[in-house]
Amino acid sequence: MEHINFEYHDEYLKTCKECQEEFSGRLNQIFCTSKCKSQYNNRFSRIERNATKDIDKILHVNRNILLSFYEKDPDAKISKRALVDHGFNFKFVTHSEQDLHGAFCEYCYEYGLKKLKDGFHVVKEMAVAV
Ligand SMILES: [Zn+2]
Repeated sequence: MEHINFEYHDEYLKTCKECQEEFSGRLNQIFCTSKCKSQYNNRFSRIERNATKDIDKILHVNRNILLSFYEKDPDAKISKRALVDHGFNFKFVTHSEQDLHGAFCEYCYEYGLKKLKDGFHVVKEMAVAV
C-alpha cells in the first residue's frame, strides 16, 4: 500500500511578511517565526500610534478648554474668538449630536459646544454612563 505523506501536502513554500525569507508553513501562515510576527505587529502598532497621537493631543486640549470654561460658569456664553484665543481647534471633535430643538452640539469627549443663534457658544456636559 502506498504511503501518503499528508504533512507534506499541508506545508507550503511561503515568504515571511517581516523578514522576506522563504519558509515552509501552513497555508494561512504569514510569518516564519513568532519573533517575526511580534516585530511586524509592534512596528504596525507604533505607526498607528504616531498617526493618531497628534489628533489625540488636539482633542484632549479641546476637551480641557471646554472643561475649564464649564467649571468657571456652566451657563456662560462664550464667543468663538475667546475659544480660539484659548487654543480651541474647531476642526477636531469626537462626535456631534442634535438636540430636541434641532441645534447641533459638537463634543470633545464628554464636553460639547452648542452654537447659539446669536453666534455665541455654551458648553454642555454629556452624561456618560459607565
Ligand atoms: Zn521572518
